[in-house]
Amino acid sequence: MKKTKIGIIICHRYHSCAGGKCFRALREREGAFKRYSKEEDVEIVGYTSCGGCPGGNVEYAPEEMIKNGAEVIHLATGLVVGYPPCPRIDQFKKYIETRYRIPVVIGTHPIPEKYQLVHDELGTWKSEHWQEMLSSLKDPLEIRKAYD
Ligand code: SF4
Repeated sequence: MKKTKIGIIICHRYHSCAGGKCFRALREREGAFKRYSKEEDVEIVGYTSCGGCPGGNVEYAPEEMIKNGAEVIHLATGLVVGYPPCPRIDQFKKYIETRYRIPVVIGTHPIPEKYQLVHDELGTWKSEHWQEMLSSLKDPLEIRKAYD
């Protein structure tokens, strides 16, 4: 069976998060984890925070994850749903993909509905760029509500 090893980097604002939503979404193959089929084995080989603004840990954490077998790195959904969303998310993706030659996926678990509603009102994600980045995190309403 094919096995994909992944690393997750979370926003330090949520550094005490136990990862419940991310691990659940991985198990259920929801949010950004829909990209992996249920028949495919997926293992989390690294989980850490960015280290706090401006995200100094992003420079080094991927190296340790890759040493542990990571083939893809997910920037957790907290980076996009926080207030405000991480202003460096594009730079992080570009940097990791350039420096470490490993794909970076935006997001982990689906966008919780309570965040969706506020960001819709704020107009945070109006641009095409945001819409594209969030496309895999917009699960059906009942699933988003289950992540509130
Ligand atoms: S906003 Fe960005 S740089 Fe700041 S703590 Fe969150 S992920 Fe890190």
